[in-house]
Amino acid sequence: MGFKNSCFGTGKDETTIKIKWLRSLVGIPSSCYVSKTKTGKYDISILVEEEICQLPASNKTVGVDLGIKDVAICSDATVFNNPRTTKKYERKLAKEQRQLARKVKGSNNFKKKRSKAAKIHEKIANVRSDLTHKMTAKLINENQVICLESLKVKNMVKNKKLAQHILDANFSDIERQLQYKSDGYGRTVSKIDQWFPSSNMCSCCGVLYSGQWSLAIREWTCDCGQKHDRDLNAATHIHVEGLR
Ligand SMILES: [Zn+2]
Repeated sequence: MGFKNSCFGTGKDETTIKIKWLRSLVGIPSSCYVSKTKTGKYDISILVEEEICQLPASNKTVGVDLGIKDVAICSDATVFNNPRTTKKYERKLAKEQRQLARKVKGSNNFKKKRSKAAKIHEKIANVRSDLTHKMTAKLINENQVICLESLKVKNMVKNKKLAQHILDANFSDIERQLQYKSDGYGRTVSKIDQWFPSSNMCSCCGVLYSGQWSLAIREWTCDCGQKHDRDLNAATHIHVEGLR
């Protein structure tokens, strides 16, 4: 088994597979793990030993509210959007899955549709993973402390309309990446384990929204006069709680 001219060979015969590198190889490779995806591609994970330089200390800290409409909104008003491409592919996937459901299980048409759906699924996962890596890298780069709600808290406010497993996977990826990147670069992740009403509590005066609270409310004005964007207000609370 080995690499040659950007090709990967199994060593058993002359067969080689062209490699598309996701990032350049740095450090000394010690082992690699090859797996085959549902769409017939190969994933190669290479374990490398690398000296990581800690980042220079930053005096910035941030609160991050992981969301649904946007991937995340930060207390400094930075917004990480859901890319349009994911939306487009999600609609495509839904269509393919509807058509798949009408096919006779095991038939050729069924297999064709299933493989098509798997390809779109893989595409969505790749786009999302790329975005998660860029987002966590930016947060770690710029901030000394990153505050966020733990998954335990996030799961208390489940939304039945959404594909919860997709959201959960995304949230846990973000949390995991922030944790290992902050460990490596000398940053701190502060997780809030206690649920508190972060969206509907005024981050200026601490008073709760006086009317009937609902998921549909995106903006509101507190009796103290302060106008709030729902998610930015939540991120501000997370920031304050996380630094406590
Ligand atoms: Zn207020």
